[in-house]
Amino acid sequence: MSVIALEGMRFFAHHGVYDEERILGGEYLVDVLIEADIDGAAEEDDINQTVNYEMVYTVCEIEMSKPSDLIETVLQRIVWRIKENSRMIQEITIKVTKLEPPLGGRVKSASIESSFDFTTQCGRCGRGMVCYGDVTCWCTEAKTVHPRTAELVQQEHGSCVCANCLNYYAG
Ligand SMILES: [Zn+2]
Ligand SMILES: [Zn+2]
Repeated sequence: MSVIALEGMRFFAHHGVYDEERILGGEYLVDVLIEADIDGAAEEDDINQTVNYEMVYTVCEIEMSKPSDLIETVLQRIVWRIKENSRMIQEITIKVTKLEPPLGGRVKSASIESSFDFTTQCGRCGRGMVCYGDVTCWCTEAKTVHPRTAELVQQEHGSCVCANCLNYYAG
């Protein structure tokens, strides 16, 4: 297990419910911490098996550029997009900090931080695995099993099952 961190990504953005924030915008810092199982990437020197820094930065840049009332919404969108683009994430922690919020110039920063844990146990064999719990999950791309079968397996076990167990239903 490895921790991948991008800290202090700085963006100028127009989030907020006040006109001042929407029109003038403000400075934000974004920190992203990702725990992932990237042992395969190191062994095979394969970038596709790791979490790509550039992807994480680009996702943050794109989502920060879309004005939103709530920072929480921005944060959720960033997590969703990172999940969509990477398959082996065990945990994401993300913090969005607004520098000098419009509170009369007396506050240095205001921030919100959330953690999302995607580790779970296989509903069939009980082994530890990663499940995103939505359509961004790796299992939706598992080519060995028909999508309809995967759906039935999920219903039967109440969650995704691990790659090994999914193979049991293959063919
Ligand atoms: Zn299993
Ligand atoms: Zn899943």
